[in-house]
Amino acid sequence: MTDDKHAKRAARDLAAREGISYTAARRRLAAGAGDVDQEPRPPVVVPTTSTPCPEGCEGSGHPGTACWTWRPADATTGVRWEVRRAAELPGGRADQVMRRDEEARENTSSRWARLHAWETKWLLALVYAMLTDQRPELLPDRARLRAAVEADDLAAVDAAMEPLDRAAARLMTKVPAVWWGEVKPRIDAYAHVVENDVRELSTWQEIDARHVVGRLVDQWRRTWEPTVRNASGLLEAPGVLWVAVKGWLDALLVDRHGGHAPGARVRLGDGRPALVYAVEWGEEGPPVAYRVRELEPGRHGNAGRLVPCLTSDVLAPAAGCQEYAPAAED
Ligand SMILES: [Zn+2]
Repeated sequence: MTDDKHAKRAARDLAAREGISYTAARRRLAAGAGDVDQEPRPPVVVPTTSTPCPEGCEGSGHPGTACWTWRPADATTGVRWEVRRAAELPGGRADQVMRRDEEARENTSSRWARLHAWETKWLLALVYAMLTDQRPELLPDRARLRAAVEADDLAAVDAAMEPLDRAAARLMTKVPAVWWGEVKPRIDAYAHVVENDVRELSTWQEIDARHVVGRLVDQWRRTWEPTVRNASGLLEAPGVLWVAVKGWLDALLVDRHGGHAPGARVRLGDGRPALVYAVEWGEEGPPVAYRVRELEPGRHGNAGRLVPCLTSDVLAPAAGCQEYAPAAED
């Protein structure tokens, strides 16, 4: 019996501390006169309402029971799985955003690269968790999100998530100097805050959320250990495919706002062909600029085989990037 074991240990500790006999300590604890700090609070049974409460419920409609705050997981009938998952922060949405991009590129990206991308989705979840923790105004309005999910409307869910997706796309990067110099230190600092968080938790939903973030931070820490053993038992170098996260977010936002997605061929203002590598976003609307890699055209007047210049990328304003039309080349 664990309770009994705890009581015995508490009594032994009290006896040692106060210099009294074990039985006296037992008696004092039983009488409730023991060290109040050591006494566990007796559990209280609080019934929860059987269905999610309406938005803004203050509990007067169901006296004696605790509110049940709606979560996307509560929408179980008539709602597609992907709609519900896309509304679940942080992990569900990260998974859906990753899937949409990776599954759209099924034929062009190698299976190996995709495997790594699938393993990287936790990083997007951690970024979502960090952004919503630090800037709660990025969280979707719950009533709006609930209406979108219950209407099985994926576009409406995406619209509710737009500020968060955009903030994530603006934070994440494919530029190594920015990642190592700004983004990674910021996530490190957040991990430190989470690990030293001693806030009082009042609801089981908060406890759940804390647990999820704690696991993501664990993963982050494991990722930067000198070597990690992967699922197959092989030792892997530290690190994570952080460029992939930026790619998913760019593709998602281009889908919604137009522009050129990563991998698209464009023509720069002076006619040079280029390949979009990453997209730069402003506060709202379509892309403001593209990070492009130049392609070398053929030497004999034909389009030739275009070879991307892999050594660097160039930041080109969105206005200077036209869609690449191969027909104009002939
Ligand atoms: Zn309620």
